[in-house]
Amino acid sequence: GLSEKGLDHPWLSAWRDLVAECAGASTEPVQREVQIGPTWYRQALYRVPGEDVIRVYGVDVTDRRKAEDALQQREAFLEAIVENIPDMIFVKEAKELRFVRFNRAGEALLGFSRHDLYGRNDFDLFPKAEAEFFVGRDRDVLAGGGVLDIPEEPIHTKLQGTRVLHTKKIPVHDATGRPVYLMGISEDITERKRAEQELYASRQMLENVLDMIPLGVFWKDRDSRWLGCNRLCARDMGVGQPDQVKGKGDDDLFSRELARAYRADDVAVMESGIPKLFFEERMDQPGGKFAWIRTSKIPLRDAAGQVIGVLGTYEDITERKLKEEELARSNRELELFAYVASHDLQEPLRMVASYVQLLARRFANVVDDDGRQFVRFAVEGAQRAQQLIDDLLEFSRVGTAGQPLVPVDAGIAAGKALANLAVALKEAGARVDIGPLPRVLGDESQLVQLFQNLIGNAVKFRGSDPPVVEVAAQQIGGWWEFHVRDNGIGIAPEYLERIFVIFQRLHNRDAYPGNGLGLALVKKIVERHGGRIRVESEVGKGSTFRFTLGDAGPALER
Ligand code: ADP
Repeated sequence: GLSEKGLDHPWLSAWRDLVAECAGASTEPVQREVQIGPTWYRQALYRVPGEDVIRVYGVDVTDRRKAEDALQQREAFLEAIVENIPDMIFVKEAKELRFVRFNRAGEALLGFSRHDLYGRNDFDLFPKAEAEFFVGRDRDVLAGGGVLDIPEEPIHTKLQGTRVLHTKKIPVHDATGRPVYLMGISEDITERKRAEQELYASRQMLENVLDMIPLGVFWKDRDSRWLGCNRLCARDMGVGQPDQVKGKGDDDLFSRELARAYRADDVAVMESGIPKLFFEERMDQPGGKFAWIRTSKIPLRDAAGQVIGVLGTYEDITERKLKEEELARSNRELELFAYVASHDLQEPLRMVASYVQLLARRFANVVDDDGRQFVRFAVEGAQRAQQLIDDLLEFSRVGTAGQPLVPVDAGIAAGKALANLAVALKEAGARVDIGPLPRVLGDESQLVQLFQNLIGNAVKFRGSDPPVVEVAAQQIGGWWEFHVRDNGIGIAPEYLERIFVIFQRLHNRDAYPGNGLGLALVKKIVERHGGRIRVESEVGKGSTFRFTLGDAGPALER
């Protein structure tokens, strides 16, 4: 009944409004779906004509409602996935290939809203050639029935210019197996592509550099297994291509003995982390040959700074080495020749001089003044030749007959030189100041010769003033630089190099006696001691000869 009381029924109270609506309306039934408790009802209500009665017919539709809700939820879920995937997803209908679905990433990539895209096809959106390519692939996929992978697909976009996509196209079939849609998933790989190209370019650059430099370059892992090398090195290893060395060990490439030495260096460099630079060693080459090389090794590190191997470079110095050996050999031969020649020349010279003198004495009564002068010239000539031979002998002995280098007091050597020069110094009225001199590594008799020649020259090539000579030394690292300075005639710049060459003189014998051997000997002595010599001079202002000798280390007694 429609009485208030009737409506108190809990079953009815839920639809109080509806009942009120029915009560006031016609006899047409009103339809609603209503949830009461856990149950859904589809109901028809109508007022019975002429009576104060509403009739209600109800069907339980709970199952259908539940199924519908589940479907809706699933759709929303799928929608959320599709929308949130960062790759472009699109769907075209199979017949005219018009777009029917687009996700957010697709809108962002192409620069269109999906509503502008729905109903349009590729020809509406892209340049013709591009559209033809896309549509061609679509048709292949729909005809072939399988997934098509397009690793690189350039596409013209409205806002971002040309992008490169990695696209997969997938046919979507209906229940009968007929393709009804074409689905596409495209990843924008433009940045990755660009990074790959940059990496490729810098790799290419590195390879070019590696192949252009005239050095062998190789790199190995922690176990000294070869990881790679440049072309020059590959050629030395007897393989055609650099990557053929990959995975090899030194044992595969070199003799056991060399492989062991190389490995020891690798380990030392990797463990200490300190490069080993410019050392000379041997290297086997294909065909039983070997090369002399100058090698440098540095530790190879990964991005975190961990040592992961060793990088080496080498320069082939075989030719230089052979030349050095050849030079040393010919120097030895020359020295021997000079020694033998000068030694054997002395005897006949002595004979000439003494027999000319004998002749002069025996025939004193028939020889006139002219004759006596001729004899004097002949004897002088022979004596000069003898002096020359003595000096030459001395010169050839520096390398062959020298004593081992030991700690020597340079002050004592200089003192002995002064004593030998006493007469000449006195004659010239020379003053020689010798500063405190250090202990050096040397051969004392050669150092005496060295000081004697330099101080002797300083006095011999004096100007109009009485000669003043200064000898001193200063320390430079493990070396001492000595200088012998004079106030003599000086040397013109163009001759500064030449004076150290054997037999080179700048004056004739009448002005300054000598044979041009003194400085050549000095230079040879300095070089035998591992030092260097040079001269500074100005014509008329004197000369300073500077040379270096190795320090003898801490002196025990001084
Ligand atoms: P020599 O003294 O027998 O001529 P050296 O080899 O000792 O031969 O010297 C070569 C030349 O260098 C000398 O002839 C001289 O011209 C020049 N010279 C050497 N020492 C000096 C010096 N202290 N001052 C000027 N000239 C010098």
